[in-house]
Amino acid sequence: AAKRSDQRLQKGQVGAMEGKPIGIKDLFCTKNVKTTAGSKILSNFIPPYESTVTQNLWDAGAIMLGKLNLDEFAMGSSTLASAFGPTVNPWQRTSDNKPLVPGGSSGGSAAAVASYSAMAATATDTGGSIRQPAALCGLVGIKPTYGLCSRYGTVAFASSLDQAGVITRTVRDSAIMLQVMISHDPKDGTSLNHALPNLEAALTGNIKGLKVGIPNEYRTSNLKKDMSDTWDKGIDWLKQAGAEIREVSLPHTKYALPTYYILAPAEASSNLSRYDGLRYGLRVEGHTLDEMYENTRAEGFGTEVKRRIMVGTYVLSAGYYDAYYLQAQKVRSLIKQDFNTAFKSVDVLLTPSTPTGAFALDEPSTDPIEMYMQDVFTVPVNLAGLPALSLPAGLSKEGLPLGLQLIGPNFSEDLLLRTADVMDTLATFDEGRQTLRNTK
Ligand code: GLN
Repeated sequence: AAKRSDQRLQKGQVGAMEGKPIGIKDLFCTKNVKTTAGSKILSNFIPPYESTVTQNLWDAGAIMLGKLNLDEFAMGSSTLASAFGPTVNPWQRTSDNKPLVPGGSSGGSAAAVASYSAMAATATDTGGSIRQPAALCGLVGIKPTYGLCSRYGTVAFASSLDQAGVITRTVRDSAIMLQVMISHDPKDGTSLNHALPNLEAALTGNIKGLKVGIPNEYRTSNLKKDMSDTWDKGIDWLKQAGAEIREVSLPHTKYALPTYYILAPAEASSNLSRYDGLRYGLRVEGHTLDEMYENTRAEGFGTEVKRRIMVGTYVLSAGYYDAYYLQAQKVRSLIKQDFNTAFKSVDVLLTPSTPTGAFALDEPSTDPIEMYMQDVFTVPVNLAGLPALSLPAGLSKEGLPLGLQLIGPNFSEDLLLRTADVMDTLATFDEGRQTLRNTK
């Protein structure tokens, strides 16, 4: 691929990502290259076709260095749920050398970019899997409006929430790469036909008069002091740049996480029914067909995936469907309406990306709900289908990266990138051992 790229360069045919070495989350099907989704059940799966998003990147001249680790089927916030073992965050805290999680599910993508192993990486975000690992590794991550990146060839987790995006070191890199990945794709029924403006050209450096909303409900009790200080710092940068700050209310925020953990498992239980040992992937024989299904799925799926299949099957079952699934769909509409109302008075919202910085690989709680809390600020965005971006904004008192999240209305990717770019020029991180901005 590199040779072919050199040849194109010699002929003066230069794509927007010509010769750029990138990593691909192992959830995107890559033709003739193993694609595991972090699962044992797909550990021998070699796709005969290419995902639309990766094809768009190759068409623009990008070069794949390798496939990147993730939580199994993108379910998780740490990569601890990968069947192939966790990825380590290149960052360490000042107090000890314990290996830390890079966040998840796109933890491999974030660690590869933060460690300079790849210039940029693809990622996907169902409830926070681009923004949370970007935040925990000191990087920029953007999830576009639902439907802008085709889902064709991306292993499905929760189809109404899944959306591809990018993790990069700089805002400009995100703008360039995201633009290449977006396309209208007849092979995905939810793909939108909506052209975005030139995203790199949108980085004008000017956000004078921008109205920025600060949602009251995001001042939650689990928000650490250093994170809330970073949030205040972000508000100051925006004021310095001439933006106007307004308090707003998103009253249904507290229902977002429980709603997500009904809808996402429901969709997952349906999507994952295709792994049956018959068509592709792992097969563990049994005496009967049913036994073969059971053996294959018992051995092929990890604990977290099994938990979600069980929760999802339960909330969709006769008798519980109305009480859980249907009710969650109604709450989803209310969450969407909250954002619509807020965007009548402000252009974008500023929130923390996560409640805390990275935790150690050997420190996760045994309570799955605590892991789910990692996504308390990111999940509402997926339920509403909106675009959002996480940018590195400071360091915790432990010397670890903390991220701030910008959320905008549908198709406001240009505005989010412009705002993040302005904030990035005002941000200073000299309080830490490492500099987040050593690419400049
Ligand atoms: N951490 C969330 C989950 O476990 C979100 C994952 C994602 O966005 N893929 O479902």
